[in-house]
Amino acid sequence: MVKAFKFRLRPNRSQRRMLAACLSDHCDLYNAALEERRTAWSASRVPVRYTQQSAQLKAIRHDDSGGQGRWSFSSQQATLRRLNRAFEAFFRRIRGGQEPGYPRFRSRHRFDSVTWPKDGDGCKWIDGDSASDGISRVRLQGVGTVRVHRHRSIEGIVKTITVKREGPKWFLVLACETDAPGEQPKTGRATGIDMGVTHFATTADGEHIANIAPLKTNEGRLARAQRDLARYPKNRKREDRSTRHWQAARKVAKLHRKIAAQRRDYAHKTANALIERFDVIAVEKLNITGMTKAPAPRPDPERPGVWLPNGANAKAGLNKRILDAAWGQFIDILTVKAAWAGREVIAVDPRNTSRTCTECGHCDPDNRDREDFHCTACGYNDHADRVGAVNIASRAGLVLDGDGRPSTSEAPQL
Ligand SMILES: [Zn+2]
Repeated sequence: MVKAFKFRLRPNRSQRRMLAACLSDHCDLYNAALEERRTAWSASRVPVRYTQQSAQLKAIRHDDSGGQGRWSFSSQQATLRRLNRAFEAFFRRIRGGQEPGYPRFRSRHRFDSVTWPKDGDGCKWIDGDSASDGISRVRLQGVGTVRVHRHRSIEGIVKTITVKREGPKWFLVLACETDAPGEQPKTGRATGIDMGVTHFATTADGEHIANIAPLKTNEGRLARAQRDLARYPKNRKREDRSTRHWQAARKVAKLHRKIAAQRRDYAHKTANALIERFDVIAVEKLNITGMTKAPAPRPDPERPGVWLPNGANAKAGLNKRILDAAWGQFIDILTVKAAWAGREVIAVDPRNTSRTCTECGHCDPDNRDREDFHCTACGYNDHADRVGAVNIASRAGLVLDGDGRPSTSEAPQL
């Protein structure tokens, strides 16, 4: 699936001039190619093809190195193809018995876009997530490296890059190939997943999905960078951006972006893997804000102004890990991807799912000791996360078969 992302370009003055020159030269090329087709047609009824025109580009660029030669070969080919499409449409209408107007010359004021058909060929998208200063840019042959106001993250792989002029404003359009799968063949299988702290998630099959490993490395770096930031206060009258404080601040910001990108990437991959295997996936209905809210401060009744420990630190550690695992983001991504693939995600109330026995239904907090589930009523033993996953599945109305593997009622397992 191709998705387009449109961002505002922030060219400086000389880049604006070059962008205008780039459009203007592409417009000239378009008109010259049109002229050639017209002349050949009216003189001898000979159609000129795209390949013939494209073959002349090399000589055109050589003879006009300070003009046409400045721009990307591929973007010029794209402009010639655009003309070719105009002619194809023209001939199609003639064959259809219509009387279409002959393709027209374009005014420089009305020629408002140039496309680079392939990222990396005469143009390069530099995403802020991987840039050292976090600023997104696009490098355009003949124009330079232009800043881009990327107001949201892109998805997928950049395929084509288009520059557009709209009045006094310049825009960048990225056409991205996203990995959102199309409708996928049914697997006849369903599952529930339990989101955990030790493991990112566990399926009702008892399979654990590990927490993202590279995150740990960057988290260590982030902790160090944050210590540096605290160590170098910005006690300067002037805002000197070269001080250690600002160096550390930039580093912290960069690591945050990196970690966010890693999480997103991991969520996409995990969601894809689940969608590939299951038609229906039951998940916990999450309340991330409620779960991660700081505990209320507790004043000491004996000594006014003194506060008792309220478990804030312990909970802050858990908060961090909960946020790291980024369940909310994962479930959002899973839900969107599932819809594309013709799969179903059912969110259920997760209350007591980790303390209710899947065998006898006995619900007791004592059933669970960390990772181990041991039913105090019937003695059933299992991994606590798997118990949670199975309960989530059955709460979503998914029917369990003999070995505890849930299957949809529509497609029973044999
Ligand atoms: Zn039991």
